[in-house]
Amino acid sequence: MNILFDSGSEQDPLFHVSPRQRRIALILSLALILFTVVIIFFAHIHLPKLVLFFPALGAWGVLGDILTAFILFNQFRASRIRPLLVLGCTYLFTGLVSLFYLLALTGVLPDSGPFAPNAQTSIWFWCFWQLSFPCGILVFSHSIRKQSDRVPLQHLPRYLFVGTSIVLLGAAGLFLFGTFGDSLLPKLIENGDYGRLLTSGVGPVLWLLSLAAFLSVLLPYRKRGVLRIWIIVAMLAFLLGLTLSLVAGERYTIGWYGARVDSLIASVIVLLALIAEVNKLFVRLTRQHEELEESKQALEEANKRLKELSLVDGLTRIANRRQFDEVLAQELDAPQREKEFLSLLLIDVDYFKAYNDHYGHLGGDMVLRSVASRLETEALAHFGFTARYGGEEFAVILPGHSERETEQIAELLIESVRSLSIPHQYSSVSNQITISVGGFTMRPGEHFNANELISKADAALYQAKAEGRARFVLTGTGVELSRGPVN
Ligand code: GH3
Ligand code: MG
Ligand code: MG
Repeated sequence: MNILFDSGSEQDPLFHVSPRQRRIALILSLALILFTVVIIFFAHIHLPKLVLFFPALGAWGVLGDILTAFILFNQFRASRIRPLLVLGCTYLFTGLVSLFYLLALTGVLPDSGPFAPNAQTSIWFWCFWQLSFPCGILVFSHSIRKQSDRVPLQHLPRYLFVGTSIVLLGAAGLFLFGTFGDSLLPKLIENGDYGRLLTSGVGPVLWLLSLAAFLSVLLPYRKRGVLRIWIIVAMLAFLLGLTLSLVAGERYTIGWYGARVDSLIASVIVLLALIAEVNKLFVRLTRQHEELEESKQALEEANKRLKELSLVDGLTRIANRRQFDEVLAQELDAPQREKEFLSLLLIDVDYFKAYNDHYGHLGGDMVLRSVASRLETEALAHFGFTARYGGEEFAVILPGHSERETEQIAELLIESVRSLSIPHQYSSVSNQITISVGGFTMRPGEHFNANELISKADAALYQAKAEGRARFVLTGTGVELSRGPVN
């Protein structure tokens, strides 16, 4: 995809030459032709010398050329397509030479000294200007035809340096020739009458050159990108301006003023097209950036949700086994492990199979939710962490509680679940839902890994079940088994 060759597709709006754009270019071209044809009939009529007209339009023209060159150099830097460098150099050179013309004609150059212009300087600067643009366009067309590989990235600065150096040196040479060497300039103008431009053959040569340059960009070859469409319009405006100038034959005639308008359009039309393209790109980039931000946010939310889902139990909405494993590992690794107690309680609902069998599986689910929520609330009040360990089994990690405190918390949990008063007529230990708790307390400085801790708590739970259920059995190194409460 590039601005020169592709006519683009609907999916590629940046360089897509829309039918609307083609239509605008066509209408503008027709308007330029019409404007010029109408003016040609009155070309010789003299108008007052508008002092500000020429500097104002001229300054815009120079600025237009130089800004176009600036954007084209940047396009070249981005795409590394040689013809864009050629075009950038063409615009820079044309801008400088038309600046010399502007300076000479508006009397800004010094009146005396080696760089003082003579009467022929301004018209010759004009000729150089009329020569440089079509020559540049011809080189551009030629370079497009044999457009092949891109300039290697590492050679980019060298290309830009050589290109701009040639332009600056060439322009400086022309400036010296037109001022310092002005005695060498053949006479083309006398008292504002530059009829000799035609008779000397200089004018016709310039005109044929412009025509050739116009045809070289107009004649169809390969697909035209948006830039080339507007170069055709610019070259047309340039050719029409030259035609008007030649027909007018004298300064400050209608033809001469009209030519200035055509020239201005030639200088700024590509700039306007480039600005429009850059604007489109900017809007597109901003939208894409917004979309990117939105999808990034959505992704972050989805990730958060996914993480949540992977850590939370679907039925009870408390932490699941995976989160339990993570938290237990963290607690075992924590620096305060050396100074703190750490207890693990495993909790199992008593006679739960019988509950399911008689009250139904859905009823069983409700019980699991209530028990889970109650256990979590009570454990949290003592800075404990609760998880669903599996089936109807739960686990509570309790950091910072001694054996005695752990015993009280275990008792509290049992009582708290009992106080839910969920009827269970098929329990052999009570007529309500009860739990059994098995636990193990690690003392400060003691080291067990997760598996050891779990199996010790599990053994205690097994014992609590064996001893009749609805009770706790807590163990710990060097501690007598603590039991209770017995129903
Ligand atoms: P014990 O007092 O020895 O613990 O007896 P129990 O019947 O509770 O023990 P057992 O392990 O035999 O039964 C556990 C039951 O828990 C079996 C299974 O159907 C039930 N269970 C496990 N997960 C779920 C669940 O997500 N929802 C329901 N409703 N029941 C579950
Ligand atoms: Mg069980
Ligand atoms: Mg059970």
